Amino acid sequence: MPLPELADVVVAGGGHAGLCAAITAAEQGRQVYLLERAPAVMRGGNTRHTRNLRVMHDGPVAGLTGSYSEAEFWADLHRVTAGNTNEPLARLVIRESKPLLDWLENHGVHFQPSLRGTLNLSHSNAFFLGGGCALSNTLYQAAEQAGVQIVYECRVTSVSMEGHRCTHVSGQFEGADFTLAANAFVMCSGGFQANAAWMREAWGEAADNFLIRGTPYNEGDVLRALMQQGAATTGDPTQCHAVAIDARAPKYDGGIVSRLDCVPYSIVVNRQGERFYDEGEDFWPKRYAIWGRLVAAQPEQIGYAIIDSKVTEHFMPSVFPAITAESIPALAEQLELPIETLNTTVQQFNQAVQPGEYHPQQLDDCRTVGLTPNKTHWALPIDTPPFYAYPLRPGITFTYLGLMVDSTARVQLSDGNACTNLFAAGEIMAGNILGQGYCAGTGMTIGGVFGRIAGAQAACLPS
Ligand SMILES: Cc1cc2nc3c(=O)[nH]c(=O)nc-3n(C[C@H](O)[C@H](O)[C@H](O)COP(=O)(O)OP(=O)(O)OC[C@H]3O[C@@H](n4cnc5c(N)ncnc54)[C@H](O)[C@@H]3O)c2cc1C
Repeated sequence: MPLPELADVVVAGGGHAGLCAAITAAEQGRQVYLLERAPAVMRGGNTRHTRNLRVMHDGPVAGLTGSYSEAEFWADLHRVTAGNTNEPLARLVIRESKPLLDWLENHGVHFQPSLRGTLNLSHSNAFFLGGGCALSNTLYQAAEQAGVQIVYECRVTSVSMEGHRCTHVSGQFEGADFTLAANAFVMCSGGFQANAAWMREAWGEAADNFLIRGTPYNEGDVLRALMQQGAATTGDPTQCHAVAIDARAPKYDGGIVSRLDCVPYSIVVNRQGERFYDEGEDFWPKRYAIWGRLVAAQPEQIGYAIIDSKVTEHFMPSVFPAITAESIPALAEQLELPIETLNTTVQQFNQAVQPGEYHPQQLDDCRTVGLTPNKTHWALPIDTPPFYAYPLRPGITFTYLGLMVDSTARVQLSDGNACTNLFAAGEIMAGNILGQGYCAGTGMTIGGVFGRIAGAQAACLPS
């Protein structure tokens, strides 16, 4: 498809946020160009990998049970971010999540009840039937029907400003440079987690050992271009959503199947064969998002979850098979860990385990005493062969450093002004709401709510 020189609205990035923005603007009669860096088969960014979004609701709807009030949603968000959130924007996301659900259904997205194993999310998180890929395909279809011009393999790398107004974007398309002017621009091109050099700037050499759970295309091109143009940012470059995933997952796009749920029933040791954190602190859904950072802080950014044959049925099966041995020394040998140290770690752990009643689905009283750190729930001696190990690496979902926006999704400038015709939605601005921590399902809610706001704002600007 040839690119014009001028459009009404240009949207950069075709994930959830970009699609919501593009459809909204097109339905208001605007001629919209959606520029997506990936080829068509890889479209949909991190959105392809998702399963659900968090929504406020008054009663059972779209596969959700009970109700989930603004107060409860806000309390959950406030707790996980430790208050490091912009309250007016966070409350806007919460309130607008309700109409977002209807909007998605009206655009063909179907929902299903939450699946077993997704623990305690059935009243707060609406699950996409067919997952994020189905949602993405459905919204691409809706975008085409609304008349959005979708341009694949089109990479936006720079943004030009005159005063507080954005004049055009440029980049590469079909092996050549392009420039496209527009009346309004919506930036939805994700975080910078797939940009190895930028991650290194933020984390140092440790970043080389990180795995990126989602798309390789979110390299922060537009974020960086706008930072160079004086856009105000929010958040710290090391803040991100990071979980511990199977170290054997591919560098990019491993998705949710590389997640490991065995940690609460295991001991986790580092490269030196030593434990470093309470594996049984809380239920896994409440703790999985801290383990990426915990592993990132260990030597060579690797950990090993070790279990015995008593607990193999208590967590979701892994996509990669466990490393198995008949004894702890044999397991240490396979993992190339110091045999003596791992043996001592396991023996000391076993000796510290107190009698208790083991309940894999409850915060039980099986714990250790006298260890640093102790394991406070689900502590059973690791004594029944065969023994199993899973290697863990930090799996980065998305970064939080982003463009500062206001409640109209307008990008703010470091001189205190707002851009008149430049908007942002999704991961690229999620740090306004997620200063730290994470509440499952909020990534998609932020993208959808701000995508719709940005699309509507972009559409109503006079030409
Ligand atoms: C494995 C995994 C599971 C997840 N599960 C959930 C979940 O269940 N619920 C939830 O709420 N969140 C989940 N998330 C987070 C969620 O994916 C994001 O919060 C959400 O998809 C963000 O939407 P977005 O549109 O901002 O970004 P994306 O969906 O990543 O879209 C960004 C798009 O921009 C394009 N792009 C990048 N750079 C350029 C450029 N220079 N020019 C043009 N285009 C560009 C990319 O190709 C991509 O298509 C998950 C993420 C991962 C990785």
